[in-house]
Amino acid sequence: MAKHPHLDPDCIFCRIVRGEIPCFKLHEDSDTLAFMDINPVQPGHALVVPKFHSKDLIATPAEWVGKSFTAARRIAEAVEKTLKPVGINILQANGPGAAQSVFHLHVHVIPRAMDDGLTMNWQLKPGDMDAIGKLAERIRANVK
Ligand code: 5GP
Ligand code: ZN
Repeated sequence: MAKHPHLDPDCIFCRIVRGEIPCFKLHEDSDTLAFMDINPVQPGHALVVPKFHSKDLIATPAEWVGKSFTAARRIAEAVEKTLKPVGINILQANGPGAAQSVFHLHVHVIPRAMDDGLTMNWQLKPGDMDAIGKLAERIRANVK
């Protein structure tokens, strides 16, 4: 914990940041971590989290929000280069009514396909770990 004074031992994303739970990592710096979502709504769905535990956008100091969205921009650029999707949605949910399920600020980077039928609130469906890992490798190669 000494290395990461702002993390919560009981939070799943803090545990991923600390390396206690594995992830398909895309990029890491001293303040943020980007990794693949394991229940992707679309292939290439990625998450960016600050190395600072706070439940949502409003609870998070602006400085950490800025770091998180700056990192999301970097990942969106890599996703764009890798998958050339028709579009990319950046999504960040606040509260259960907005379908937030993990209460540690995170930014979704979601590549879109034509007629993908994606609605704002989706059910979690486990992805194919092999396919997720392979896509992680391709996107990682394009993270500058
Ligand atoms: P929210 O619904 O809070 O906006 O998004 C939480 C996201 O975290 C979901 O898309 C879900 O698939 C993802 N997620 C939950 N647990 C894990 C996990 O252990 N590892 C990864 N990589 N993603 C997770
Ligand atoms: Zn946390």
